[in-house]
Amino acid sequence: MTIPFLDIKAQHVEIKDALDAAYHRVINSGQYILGSEVIAFEQEFAAYCDTKYCVGVSNGLEALHLVLRAYDIGNGDEVIVPTNTYIATWLAVSYCGAKPIPVEPDEKTYNLDPALIEAAITPRTKAIIAVHLYGQPADMDAINAIAKRHKLKLIEDAAQAHGALYKGRKVGGLGDAAGFSFYPGKNLGAIGDAGAITTNDADIAHKVSVLRNYGSQIKYHNEVKGFNSRLDELQAAFLREKLKKLDEWNGRRKRLAVEYLRQFTGGDLGLPFVPEWADPVWHLFVVRSARRDALQSHLAEQGIGAMIHYPIPPYLQAAYAELGFRVGDFPIADVIHREVLSLPIGPHVRNWEINIVVKSVRDFLDA
Ligand SMILES: *Cc1c(COP(=O)(O)O)cnc(C)c1O
Repeated sequence: MTIPFLDIKAQHVEIKDALDAAYHRVINSGQYILGSEVIAFEQEFAAYCDTKYCVGVSNGLEALHLVLRAYDIGNGDEVIVPTNTYIATWLAVSYCGAKPIPVEPDEKTYNLDPALIEAAITPRTKAIIAVHLYGQPADMDAINAIAKRHKLKLIEDAAQAHGALYKGRKVGGLGDAAGFSFYPGKNLGAIGDAGAITTNDADIAHKVSVLRNYGSQIKYHNEVKGFNSRLDELQAAFLREKLKKLDEWNGRRKRLAVEYLRQFTGGDLGLPFVPEWADPVWHLFVVRSARRDALQSHLAEQGIGAMIHYPIPPYLQAAYAELGFRVGDFPIADVIHREVLSLPIGPHVRNWEINIVVKSVRDFLDA
């Protein structure tokens, strides 16, 4: 018996007929780039996020990169990013020639600690990227207030939080603009790479839609040096079908998270903390243990897939050696990276599988 970390194929089996139809729709349309499927998906995803605009792009990193470009962020500028995030958040800043300025998270929520942001702001700061890590919204009202006070752009990295609510409002429309990823393992995943930007700012939506398509609005007329960062028709068609299932699938994740939280009482396991204003979508169910590596090995021996998000923080990656950070510079992120472990969660994990995972974790902790 094995319990995989995430069974993505099961999603596609569940809606096979709809995906087959979407595939045939695209093949028979004769349009494969920036056609009616991309337009329809953009409208549907904007409606889902309660934003005025959505622009489909090739992946989540490009979504963030193009938003920063659209705001003219570049050489000499600084952008505040969390110390604990997937490296894509940082790379988007580096792509523009700007410098990522790391700020520590709140140790309970894992999201940017608003109380620590202002100390990192300099005259060169242009924007803050708030990541809704693990599917839980960051404290956007507090961060927005800081952004307003210092005239900074606030960009959401919503790659892990499709459908999450902050004080009843959907992520994706809580700052100036947001980047989403539809990498297959995300809550809303394509069958390949894909991403999108959401915003209520008409000017930014327009700029990003030009930037993603070679800097061109009219074919062969190039206003700016753009990129080829388009969402393709086939992925858009698949995403339209999977978007119809998103709330149901997020609901299943939530029921599993509630079950984990109910069963894991007592003991020295760190559990996710949900502030009363957050309605997370449980992209990951992350626990903490000082004996994390041994716990992961124990689960692997039982056939249970548990993963680490993430083993190495961006500030300690070789790719960012130029910034000269060391272990100890960001003690909160350091300890998080040493202790976190993501347990199986997803729309196709069964309740009985949760029971087995909980028992295996308990056996390890009690031994
Ligand atoms: C997945 C992810 C991204 C990047 O998305 P891609 O589609 O893989 O480029 C960015 N930020 C976070 C927090 C992510 O989890």
